[in-house]
This record gives sequence, C-alpha cells and structure tokens, in this order.
Amino acid sequence: MQNFNYHTHTYRCGHATGKDDEYIQSAIDAEFEVLGMSEHIGFDGWDDEKERIPFAEMDKYIEDMQALREKYKDQIDIKIGFEFEYFDDKEDYLKEMLSKVDYMIVGQHAKNFDMYYDHGCNDDDVDIYANQICAALDCGLTKYVAHLDYFMLGKDEFSKRNEKAIEKICDAVLRNDAYLEINLKGATYGKKLYNGIQQYIYPHYDVFRIVAQKGCKVMFGYDAHKPEMLQVREKEELLKEEFKDLNLNYQDKIEL
Ligand SMILES: [Zn+2]
Ligand SMILES: [Zn+2]
Repeated sequence: MQNFNYHTHTYRCGHATGKDDEYIQSAIDAEFEVLGMSEHIGFDGWDDEKERIPFAEMDKYIEDMQALREKYKDQIDIKIGFEFEYFDDKEDYLKEMLSKVDYMIVGQHAKNFDMYYDHGCNDDDVDIYANQICAALDCGLTKYVAHLDYFMLGKDEFSKRNEKAIEKICDAVLRNDAYLEINLKGATYGKKLYNGIQQYIYPHYDVFRIVAQKGCKVMFGYDAHKPEMLQVREKEELLKEEFKDLNLNYQDKIEL
C-alpha cells in the first residue's frame, strides 16, 4: 500500500465533510506517512459554495493547514496544496497561489466558470480539456494530474478522438516528468458497459491501457471527501486487480 496520499479535501469546499483533525487522525491510523491537503482552489469572481473554497477564505485555509502541519509534525508529514482547474487567463493567479503552498494538483473539472465536464461533454470539449491539462503541466504549475479520465462522467463512450486526447496528456506528462493519478473515489461511481466490457466510468480501463502503453508514472489518489475514505486501503488492491493485465508503472514515492 502507498504510504502517501496527496489528494485530500476539507469541509471548506462545501461538498466534503468532517473536521480537519479527523482527516489527519484517519491518515495516521491508516499508516500514511505523508498526507497532502489539496482543497479545491477558489477563484476571484467564481464563488460556488458547493464546489470550492470561497475566494475570501483562501489565505485562511493556508494558515489553518500550516497550524495542522505544526501540530502533527511528529506523527505525519503534512503537505499543503490545492487542486486547481487551469484557465489560460488565470495562469498568473495560479502561479501566485503555487508560490504560497507546497504543491498543486490539476483536477480539470470545468471548461470555464460556466461549464463543468461531468455532464453533456462532447469530443470538442474533451480536446479543450486535454489542452488545458497539457498547458497546466507545460507552464510548471503541477506534476500531478488528478483523474485524467474525469470527463467520462459526462460521456457515454470513449471515442477514437478521446484516445488521441489521452495520448496528448500522456505525452505532456512524460515530457514534464509528471504523474498520473488512479482516482480511488472514481470507483464509487460504479461500472457501465463500454465496447462490450463492464468498466468503471473512471478510473477507466481503456484510458489506462493508453497510459500503460505510454509508460507514464502512476499512483493512487484517495480524493478523500470524508475522513474515513482514507481508511479504505483495500481499494488500492481492487484497482490493481482491475488493471492487472496492464503493465502500469506504479510509483511508491513521488516528488512534486
Ligand atoms: Zn471535490
Ligand atoms: Zn479532488
């Protein structure tokens, strides 16, 4: 099992529950050595109380995490980060935020302030999605791509054009020496029939077949939205079993 998890939320985003201390205690009990806090970043002019930290509370989040890091420093290594969406007109802001934390992970949930990729997503949207993730990697904002197959929530099939989009993301990951996440929360959305095979919507088998062929480095992300999600360590084995035919390049240590 991994001794690190860099994908953890807090109540501040409006859709995660539990107290900060409960996440840390849960991680300690589950024998994690590194716990990265990656709350959904806030944007000026885009407050959405069910999706992300209110913009006005961004600095307070960092202060709270710094206090937790100090409080638990003898028990667990806490890293402070954000999960962000990349938008080209927000690159300066995102770089400023990166300078204040230890790391950031790209979780490209949205195309812009008006459209999320988890419904009504077409192949043109997926191309934009891929370009946004590639840009986030190429401009140095991140080395960690969360749920690269997130857009499958908004689609019924994984098309030939989507294969090209995934290849493009993989190439950007390789040239930036970055990592791709196998998202353990995704499996809770269950499986559907694709091309005659029951597959998780995400982490999606056909996507990870490409990831394996490309040889990208992969690791698990718990994407914890409740403290107890950090306890479900057997999910790693479940996904390893799901992807056992693929020769995935699992990492037991990562540098962000
Ligand atoms: Zn979330
Ligand atoms: Zn997340």
